[in-house]
Amino acid sequence: MSKISNWKEWDGRADAELAALYVEQRLDRDALAAMMGRSLSSISNRVSRFKMTEREKVQMRRCLGGCERLFPSSWIGHRQCPACYASNAGLMECA
Ligand SMILES: [Zn+2]
Repeated sequence: MSKISNWKEWDGRADAELAALYVEQRLDRDALAAMMGRSLSSISNRVSRFKMTEREKVQMRRCLGGCERLFPSSWIGHRQCPACYASNAGLMECA
């Protein structure tokens, strides 16, 4: 098994950590890459996937996907945290 050394799987916990650092603490992507031990492109892909780029519009909303935790939601219709979204989409086991 060979893996690129700086590749790490993204799971709900990592997404939540990314969101908290990027959206709430307003760190830039370079800082996030260093803090999370991931590549800049990996961070950027994830930020755009969850539409965190418009930080001003992001609000903490309660997840309706099952866990009921607060998560950074990019718009009013975005009501599942990344972990529940992935779980409900059948991409991974429910935690
Ligand atoms: Zn959830």
